[in-house]
Amino acid sequence: MTDSHKNDKHKAAMEKQKTKVDNNIERADEERGVALLLTGNGKGKSSSAFGMVMRALGYGQKVAVIQFIKGEQLSGEEIYLREKCPEVAFYQMGTGFTWNTQDRSGDIAAAEKTWAFAKPLLQDPSIDLVVLDEITYMLAYKYLDEDEVVTTINQRPREQSVVVTGRGGGTALRDVVDTVSEVKDIKHAFTSGIKARKGVDF
Ligand code: ATP
Ligand code: MG
Repeated sequence: MTDSHKNDKHKAAMEKQKTKVDNNIERADEERGVALLLTGNGKGKSSSAFGMVMRALGYGQKVAVIQFIKGEQLSGEEIYLREKCPEVAFYQMGTGFTWNTQDRSGDIAAAEKTWAFAKPLLQDPSIDLVVLDEITYMLAYKYLDEDEVVTTINQRPREQSVVVTGRGGGTALRDVVDTVSEVKDIKHAFTSGIKARKGVDF
């Protein structure tokens, strides 16, 4: 194929793509907050949620971050939000990884306490973005009532967006959110013996 042929073919493909995108933009006329589930076994779920936190903060929006599970190990996002963004409502369950605690009733109490912090934020129309990091595990272990979590997400204020992260998630959660993305594990540095890296992994 000559260069001119290649250019013509490319132009035609681009025009087709543009028509498709334009049509989709025209069709997407509903203006409201969105609910997202970021799931799957690959790395990048929480990082993506914190990317949205940064975007929202860039526009001066009000943000709340609630982390279920992680607690013993400090993370860069926690340090940053606590030190530099006191305006962000931040809460962490703080009992560490469940497989370290081996204390089911303690875990449930911690999960319920964390949910008690999260729930009113999911009912507060002044909050633009709520991150429920790793909450899927609380549903999988039945530490929290799935119905209540799903209903609260569904009935949140119209303009509020919510990002849920964690592996699994269940069909009720998938049904109630607008966007579901699965991060697929193709390979991970950890499996070839590379240590979790500050600023990359935590
Ligand atoms: P991140 O916070 O880096 O975006 P994540 O939220 O997608 O990761 P989690 O299941 O919450 O994934 O795990 C957090 C930690 O586990 C991170 O240090 C991450 O690098 C690591 N991790 C994530 N996926 C894998 C994997 N497939 N194999 C090994 N380690 C992983
Ligand atoms: Mg995560």
